[in-house]
Amino acid sequence: MDINELNLNDKGTTENTGHFLQQWIAADVEAGKTGGKVVTRFPPEPNGYIHIGHAKAICVDFGMAEHFGGECHLRMDDTNPSKESDEYADNIKHDIHWLGFDWGEHFYSAADLFDTMYEIAEKLIIAGHAYVCKLSQEEWKAYRGIPTEPGKESPTRNASVEENLDLFRRMKAGEFADGEMCLRAKIDMASPNIHFRDPVLYRIIHVEHYHAGNKWCIYPMYDFAHPIEDALEGVTHSMCTLEFEVHRPLYDWVIDRLEEFGMLVERGGVKIRPQQREFSRLNLTYTVMSKRKLLQLVQEKRVNGWDDPRMPTICGMRRRGYPATAIRKFCEGIGVTKYISNTDMSILEQAVREELNKTAPRYLGVFDPVKLVIDNYPENEEEFFTGINNPEDPSAGERQIPFSKELWVERADFMKNPPKKFYRLAIGREVRLRYACLFTCTHIVEDENGKLLEIHGTMDLKSRGGTSPDGRVVRGTIHWVSAKHAVELPVRLYDRLFSVEDPLADSEKDFLEFLNPDSLINATVLAEPAVADLAPGAQIQFERMGYFCADAIDSKQGAPIFNRIATLRDSWSKKQ
Ligand code: ATP
Ligand code: MG
Repeated sequence: MDINELNLNDKGTTENTGHFLQQWIAADVEAGKTGGKVVTRFPPEPNGYIHIGHAKAICVDFGMAEHFGGECHLRMDDTNPSKESDEYADNIKHDIHWLGFDWGEHFYSAADLFDTMYEIAEKLIIAGHAYVCKLSQEEWKAYRGIPTEPGKESPTRNASVEENLDLFRRMKAGEFADGEMCLRAKIDMASPNIHFRDPVLYRIIHVEHYHAGNKWCIYPMYDFAHPIEDALEGVTHSMCTLEFEVHRPLYDWVIDRLEEFGMLVERGGVKIRPQQREFSRLNLTYTVMSKRKLLQLVQEKRVNGWDDPRMPTICGMRRRGYPATAIRKFCEGIGVTKYISNTDMSILEQAVREELNKTAPRYLGVFDPVKLVIDNYPENEEEFFTGINNPEDPSAGERQIPFSKELWVERADFMKNPPKKFYRLAIGREVRLRYACLFTCTHIVEDENGKLLEIHGTMDLKSRGGTSPDGRVVRGTIHWVSAKHAVELPVRLYDRLFSVEDPLADSEKDFLEFLNPDSLINATVLAEPAVADLAPGAQIQFERMGYFCADAIDSKQGAPIFNRIATLRDSWSKKQ
C-alpha cells in the first residue's frame, strides 16, 4: 500500500510512528532500499534569502536525516543563472547553521554537474528519448494543449538522432538566440498530465552564471536537473512541497533513464533509486513568502533590507530577536501533512514568547512615562533593591536596581476613574512597586488641560523589598525606574508587516496596499541603568511590556537600540 493512502489523523500522523514522510522513510529502511543510510537534501535556489517556509523544509530535510542517523546534503539548486549570486548562497549557509543544522562535508552545487547533465542529455538524444524542438514558447504551449485532450506533436519530434545531436551541440556552441530552440524529452503527448507531454529539458539563456561563468549558454530545467542531482549524490529521499507532486512522474522518468544508463550510485550493495514525496508548504498569515515579492519589498525600500525585523526571512527574524530554538519548535509543532492550510502568525509569536519566557532576563523600563513622587521619601536619598533576573531560571541570578524619591511609571498604570477591577494606580489605592515597596496614591497634579503631570503618594516604610508587612493583600504590581538613574534608549516597536491575514487574497488590489502603516514605530524607553550595558544581540524582557532585543547591527557597546521582538499578552486590554 502506498504511504500516501494511509489513514492519517488530523496532524497527518498516525500515533507514535511520526508523520507520513517519517513512516515512508522507515518503510524503505526496513525494506533495505537505502543501502544502510538515509540521505536527504535541502535544495535552495540562491536567488534570495531563506524564509520561515524554508525553515520548515530545512527542519523536515535535516530532521529526517537526523532521525534516521543519516545525512542531509545542502545543495545550491543553481540551474537558472539570471538571479543567482554568491551573496545569497553565503547567507543561506549562514542562516541554516544559525538554525542549528549542519551538512558537514556534503555541500553541493547543481552547477558542478552541468557537464554530466549535458552528457546525459546527449545520451537521451542518442537513445531516442529527446529531441530539439524549434517551436516558439507560445506555439509550444499551444501544441501541449489541455489535460482533457491529447496535445499536438512538435514538427521535429521525429527528426533523426544525427540531426538532433547536431542541433543540440550547436545550441551549446551558442549558435542560436534565447528561445529559438530547446531540448525536449520524448515521452507522451497524450498524457493526461501535461508536465509529461514532452517537457523541456534544456533552454538557451545567454547569461553568465555566477559560478560557471560564460561556459554555458544552455541551462537544464529544474525537472531534469533535480533528479540527476539527487541520483548522483546518492540521495534516498527527496522531499519537497506539494506543487511538485504533478512533476513526480517526470522525476521518476529521469531516474529510469539514469538506471538504464547505469548511472545510479551503489551503496551497501544496493542501487540507490531516489524517490520524491511532497508535503504542504507553510503559509503564514500577515506576511508574504514568495521570494519575488520579498525582493520587491526590499528593492522598493518598503522595508530596510532582507534582514528587516518585519521580514519573514530567517535573517530578519534573527535580527528581530526570534531565537532559533523557537523557530525549530514552531516548525515541529505545526507538523508535516499534505493539507493546504494557513498557519496563524500568532502560533509563531507564541513559540517565540514561550522560549524567551524561559531564557530572557527581565528588566524594568518605562515606555510612556509619567512622574511618580514618593512624598515621604527623603529628598536626596537613594537605595538599591534586588531584582530577580529571571524567575523561570534561578541560574540567571540577581541585580541591584537603584531607587529614589522620584520615579517614572507608565501613564497607563494610572486611572482617574478606575473600574473596580483596576488593580493599578488610582487615588486612594495601594500598589506594589516591583521589588521596592507598597505605595498608596494620595493625589495627582494635572495641567490646565487635565493632562496628568505627577502622581503623589506615600510608601509603607515597613514594606521595603516589596513585601507586605502585615500580610495585607496588594493585588497590583507595577514597574518603575528611578528618574535620576534612568537611561533613555531608542526602541523600535515592530508589529506585523501587513494588516490583513492574506495580503494576496484580493486579486484586484496590489499586496502593497495592505502594508501595516504601524509596523514600525520609533519610540524610546526609560530603563534601569543595567540595560545600557547589554551586549548587541541580547534578548530581554521589559517587565510587563514585552520582549526586546538589542539590535545586533545598530547597537554600540553601552548604547543599545532595542527591537521589540513580541508583546506580552496584556490581559487588561483583552478584558476591555
Ligand atoms: P519561489 O519563492 O521562487 O517559489 P522557492 O520558495 O521554491 O522559491 P527554493 O529555494 O527553490 O525557493 O526552495 C527550496 C526548498 O524549500 C524547496 O524544496 C521548497 O519546496 C522549499 N520551500 C520553499 N517555500 C516553502 C514553504 N513556504 N514551506 C515549506 N517549504 C518550502
Ligand atoms: Mg523553487
